[in-house]
Amino acid sequence: MGEGNVILKVEGVKRYFPVRKGFLFPKILGYVKATDNVSFELREGEALGVVGESGCGKTTLGKLIIGLDDATEGTITFMGQQMGTRMKREERQKIQMVFQDPYSSLDPRMNVRRIIEEPLRIHTNLTSEEKLKTVKPLLELVGLREDALEKYPHEFSGGQRQRIGIARALALEPKLLVCDEPVSALDVSIQAQVLNLFKELQKKKNLAYVFISHDMSVIRHVSDRIMVMYLGQVMESAPKRELFDHTRHPYSIALMDAIPVPDPQYRRRRKPLSGDIPSPIDAPKGCPFQTRCPRAMDCCRESRPELHEVAPEHFVACHLFDQTSKKAVNL
Ligand code: SF4
Repeated sequence: MGEGNVILKVEGVKRYFPVRKGFLFPKILGYVKATDNVSFELREGEALGVVGESGCGKTTLGKLIIGLDDATEGTITFMGQQMGTRMKREERQKIQMVFQDPYSSLDPRMNVRRIIEEPLRIHTNLTSEEKLKTVKPLLELVGLREDALEKYPHEFSGGQRQRIGIARALALEPKLLVCDEPVSALDVSIQAQVLNLFKELQKKKNLAYVFISHDMSVIRHVSDRIMVMYLGQVMESAPKRELFDHTRHPYSIALMDAIPVPDPQYRRRRKPLSGDIPSPIDAPKGCPFQTRCPRAMDCCRESRPELHEVAPEHFVACHLFDQTSKKAVNL
């Protein structure tokens, strides 16, 4: 997908958290598999939407990419350098994060100028005047007026605060933004404005995104490619149009069905997904989605489906699309 260079490569990434019992001599009872064998590539200027319910491992994946956590197994390579090794500072600065909560992610004691200048203060030797020269165009870029510079976070609405957070993330001219639920704390009317800003910035700055959300309608708005996750595993991955036109995996279908339709006469054809995501400590053998899947078969309880390419760049992990299992169950 896309024509730019690959800037991020995630290969077989696992992040397992041990579950311990006991205080003095704790025993490991098992592992929470927050991400389990996740692989993908991201190109310059491309937006990858990572979608799934709470607990599917998408936030852990974001933390691993930004370097806030280390993988148990697998590698993450950004601009040719492997994470977790002595990645050069300049490269590390090219990945920035936009946080979920625009209320708590901004220091209430700092004015907007200091907030946006903070990364420049930490990572560069720019003079005060040079920093101001960098900050002013950033404010304009995110749709805020210059008089915002001397104001404090409490003087802004949620949407404006998220714009300040985005300006701060852009200060070091990143190539990749990891955005973890960046609009979920905002009113629906404001969400669209902030999502449009992300789209504009992608074009203007050729930014790549890993855009994490539980909401398929948000993901649809910003992504070029979508990766659906469940219990730490990738269930389906495809370019946006392909995924929406030819949704294959039963879990992706359920997420699509949950997108609100602005028509009071509209009646859904399928029942909404019931039940909760199983505990990741006690994930079922076989397909992780089997306990909620309306199409589960015997083979789903026995073996874990691998990702198969069902159309160009469209991968699905489901026995319904796995040739071996298809023959076995005579589909
Ligand atoms: Fe459903 Fe089986 Fe496919 Fe899993 S492998 S999604 S349980 S049909």
